[in-house]
Amino acid sequence: ATVLDVARVRRDFPILDREVHGKPLIYLDNAATSQTPIQVIDCLDDYYRRLNANIHRGLHTLADEATAAYEGSRDKVRDFLGAADRREIVFTRGTTEAINLVANGWGRAHLRAGDEVLVSRMEHHSNIVPWQLLAEELGIVIRVIPVDERGVLDLAAYRTLFSERTKLVAVNHVSNAFGTINPVRELAEEAHRHGALILVDGAQATPHQVVDVQAIGADFYAFSGHKVYGPTGIGALYGRLELLEAMRPWQGGGEMIATVSFEAGTTYAPVPHKFEAGTPAIAEGVALGAALDWVTATGLEAIGAWEDQLLRRATLGVSRIDGLRLLGTAPDKAGVLSFVVDGAHAQDIGLLIDQLGVAIRTGHHCAQPLLAQFGVDATCRASFAAYNTLDEVDAFVAALERVIGMVR
Ligand code: PMP
Repeated sequence: ATVLDVARVRRDFPILDREVHGKPLIYLDNAATSQTPIQVIDCLDDYYRRLNANIHRGLHTLADEATAAYEGSRDKVRDFLGAADRREIVFTRGTTEAINLVANGWGRAHLRAGDEVLVSRMEHHSNIVPWQLLAEELGIVIRVIPVDERGVLDLAAYRTLFSERTKLVAVNHVSNAFGTINPVRELAEEAHRHGALILVDGAQATPHQVVDVQAIGADFYAFSGHKVYGPTGIGALYGRLELLEAMRPWQGGGEMIATVSFEAGTTYAPVPHKFEAGTPAIAEGVALGAALDWVTATGLEAIGAWEDQLLRRATLGVSRIDGLRLLGTAPDKAGVLSFVVDGAHAQDIGLLIDQLGVAIRTGHHCAQPLLAQFGVDATCRASFAAYNTLDEVDAFVAALERVIGMVR
């Protein structure tokens, strides 16, 4: 495997040159959003300078070129996820909208009162609340896949949760709160053995490892551009073709129809356009393609291996701090370090460490059910990306020790 040239990677990220409170920025909030390489910034700029037009409509040159660029990105997403067919890629605003599309497009068409959806306790709220909304409206039942004290899914319990009424398993590939990497392929096999489908939330996996939706056996797979070095406001849902074709449109409007008539009713465009009502985030869609090009050229395996090294260094560093408790000690983890400190509130640590130029996340990470199990309502979370260095990790640990000394 190639080794990441981190100094070279860093040169692609102009924001890394800025200072925060007079200190060099150390950005360790990558699980919330990753920074944007110059190639993506240039792509956005170029789009508005040269290409800007509405897509799929006009016959003029700009409309054609913008459409080709946007649809070209769909091919890149297809490649990135290992999907068989470009029609299986639906552009969305991100992971949240992708999951809501499954809940509304697939769920409403296929779920009845009493049907069961298995949702893990370590889900992001975006993979919990859409199912709760359906439970309220349709009377479906949510069954919770438990998590052990390391923050690992309890697979034995998982197997016992299935019944004839189980229609869907909704799990993340990587937990944003703890970094746990879930065995989604095994989870998918078990779901399929029981005739259920599986929706995988890949928001945290796509920046860290190569994803192959076919090898996983995912029926649906969701991710967000802004966590894979792309722009905000764009992401995608992968869905198996026959599932998408059998789904109801969720939002209605332009772009998603074949014909509209008050007398004869309306027919829909073929997938994926059936699910892409209205003018989409065109510039962001095009630039997502540039982000995936950047990730592929940099090498996702090298990025993942580097993040593993950063995580090891950070884990070792903070383990020497008195009264610090790590949450999420799974053997298989992505670059996420979540912890609480005796006698120091997470918020205070976050605010004070920001004064030293270090950006980490504090709070519930949109995973309140998981944190509740561990008896906390907030943690500090440092999360790593391709451009972070071992020196930054050491500086973070030193800053953390200083800050803890101040608040205790
Ligand atoms: N799932 C996971 C695991 C996440 O980390 C996030 C973002 N924190 C989301 C879903 C939601 O993604 P978005 O806000 O981009 O829709």
